Amino acid sequence: MERRDFIKTGLVTAAAPTLILADIETIKRSRKPMAISTWNHGINANEEAMKVLLSEGSALDAVEAGVKISEADPAIQSVGFGGRPDGDGHVTLDASIMDSKGNAGSVAYLQNIKHPVSVARKVMEETDHVMLVGNGAKNFAISHGFKEENLLTEESRTSWLKWKKNRRKKDDFGPNDDHDTISLLAQDLEGNIAGACTTSGLAFKIPGRVGDSPIIGAGLYVDNEIGAAGATGRGEEVIKVAGSFLVVELMRQGYTPQDACKEALGRTVSRHDGNPKFQIAYIALRKDGAIGAAAIRKGFKYALSSDNQNKLYSVKGIIN
Ligand code: ASP
Repeated sequence: MERRDFIKTGLVTAAAPTLILADIETIKRSRKPMAISTWNHGINANEEAMKVLLSEGSALDAVEAGVKISEADPAIQSVGFGGRPDGDGHVTLDASIMDSKGNAGSVAYLQNIKHPVSVARKVMEETDHVMLVGNGAKNFAISHGFKEENLLTEESRTSWLKWKKNRRKKDDFGPNDDHDTISLLAQDLEGNIAGACTTSGLAFKIPGRVGDSPIIGAGLYVDNEIGAAGATGRGEEVIKVAGSFLVVELMRQGYTPQDACKEALGRTVSRHDGNPKFQIAYIALRKDGAIGAAAIRKGFKYALSSDNQNKLYSVKGIIN
């Protein structure tokens, strides 16, 4: 689509929804275990999630187990242990989780705890709150048996030092486009859907910055009647359109998962004169097992695991 078309219509998908709400309600719940997640590291996360699903575990257990693989991997510099730090050299983590009953938990600006997704789950299951941040989140984690540990690896420290050295006076702190958050959506043998999202956020961000990943409705949203969506990319812009909630609501209106992802991206694209300089991508899973994935720019990949296959797919950007 041409840039001028974005400006004119604000929409990416010309097609009207192919289903109406009544049709959505008749879509059969798939009982096929499946997992969809963002970026290359989604492959390993899906594999772990599928082990849980195939042994009749819940979608909730599957998404937590899946993203914990990425959180624990020091080679992934955008999630958990080994994540790139903020501008002061501190690794600060954001994560969220939602179950099939619409319960939600999240943590933001959490330091020195390797598995923020599991802390988010504790918030969901053991408190009547949804979100804990900073020291409060850390103290809560410690009181629930999580260990404090150093999450800054030598590799991430080196890239931070390099960033600091090359930073010109007139440069502000991030954000830059170093992002690879993992969002993982899964459906279990009962047909229930859950989702998780976890990240170290934008590299070298302003200390205190929180992105979309722990914001319910932005980085992640699950509605077991309709489906789920997760985001990656420039969190500020995902927050502004309540991106994942928007994708799910569009599916409720009858958009296919694919068109819902594109339409949600179109809202952001049109806010930036049809040519945003950043990346956002959404993945979506509908309750009948249909999936969608779309990105503003080329380069996004998602991992899909179902029918004994676990494969990575490249996505063309909607503007390039
Ligand atoms: N969405 C994340 C954030 O803004 C970045 C990412 O996708 O890695 O914190």
